[in-house]
Amino acid sequence: MKDLMSKIISLCKRRGFIFQSSEIYGGVEALWDYGPLGSLLKNNIKNEWIKRFVQNRNDVVLIDATVIMHPKTWEASGHLESFTDPLIECKNCHARYREDQLPKKQCPQCGGKEFTPPRQFNLMFKTFLGPVEDEANLTYLRPETAQSMFTNFKLVQESMRFKLPFGIAQIGRCFRNEITTGNFTFRTREFDIAEIEYFVKPGEDEKWFDFWVNEWEKFFLDLGLKRENLRRYEHPKQVLSHYSKRTIDIEYKFPFGWSELAGIANRTDFDLSQHSKFSGKDLSYFDENSGKSYIPYVVEPTLGIERLLLALLIDAYYEVEGGRTKTTKATKELETVLKLDKKIAPIKIAVLPLVRNKPEIVKKAKEVYQLLKPHFTCQYDELGSIGRRYRRVDEIGCPWAITIDFETLKDDTVTLRYRDTMKQERVKIKDLVKVIDKKLKE
Ligand SMILES: [Zn+2]
Repeated sequence: MKDLMSKIISLCKRRGFIFQSSEIYGGVEALWDYGPLGSLLKNNIKNEWIKRFVQNRNDVVLIDATVIMHPKTWEASGHLESFTDPLIECKNCHARYREDQLPKKQCPQCGGKEFTPPRQFNLMFKTFLGPVEDEANLTYLRPETAQSMFTNFKLVQESMRFKLPFGIAQIGRCFRNEITTGNFTFRTREFDIAEIEYFVKPGEDEKWFDFWVNEWEKFFLDLGLKRENLRRYEHPKQVLSHYSKRTIDIEYKFPFGWSELAGIANRTDFDLSQHSKFSGKDLSYFDENSGKSYIPYVVEPTLGIERLLLALLIDAYYEVEGGRTKTTKATKELETVLKLDKKIAPIKIAVLPLVRNKPEIVKKAKEVYQLLKPHFTCQYDELGSIGRRYRRVDEIGCPWAITIDFETLKDDTVTLRYRDTMKQERVKIKDLVKVIDKKLKE
């Protein structure tokens, strides 16, 4: 299974999905760049999320807040005090580890068994506001997006004239100075979180908690993750985060084991109460029905965009020994098909002239490419045999390929080929946009 990970990593690099950050300098640990296809895929995932949880709902709005916030935020949230991991150091080779991730108490680097006593290491990246680097100007890069939804709670509620329950959604960059990293893009120091803070009347929090666990899971299934690769993990009461009444993780069966993909937490009134206290601003909500004011409870569904992207790649990855077609020369090759859902596939259509030495065919193919380009992400490819080009298209998860051939010159039709079934049909060029648009919405 470890093998699958290295195949995914290699595909990501070879086909422009994911590169190591600053690779020409030897790379930086736990930082990854999204290349031409990876960034499209990432955007598609984000757009699907926004469409589903903001556009299609009446009770959730999107915000886009800053990475750097008032330093008091992190005092109020508890991050300054408790967003830490126990750091230990091998006395022999000085490698550093998270104590809780080294259950055998033996250094994986040198086999040493003596460690320094654990010290609490804060995972927030420090930085300074303005030119003076002193305590007074010290602040942090946000380790989660949630806090800006709490600090903006009143502003959003009043400007949108919302009544409970309602939610604030955000997708944003977060930073964590992790001690141990690894498993490709699974644990990184910089990443995007997509989350909703859903504000409810106290007493209705448990109902909404269940609601959001189901909604979150449904989202993953609708993006194409297989049910058997998803499971729920409920955090035992004694290890819950300082703010949480209940937490359920949605885990994915990664090649390196079941690991957290997303989580739903019942954060109670902890955050709004804390920010009320530290800011001196009243963050309570006036309930017209009961005539009473109270601090709302918050249910928080959250997910890591890069983790979801990685899970989607793994889930979509298929290999066919000897290839799927038995007619072409390349039947002995190992064929890779990325069965990404059409909604998120970075390139929707490949446009391929059957041959590149017939000027009329090439000209027609370029016309079709120009016709489709304003409507869908397209790729034009004329290099190599048609079989080889189909395989290149399958490997990047492109759902449809269009081939311009000799028949096209006679009747203005093209071959539309389906990635998953390899089925082919003739479509009139003038109908292409309509036909593909319809298939995308199916
Ligand atoms: Zn060591």
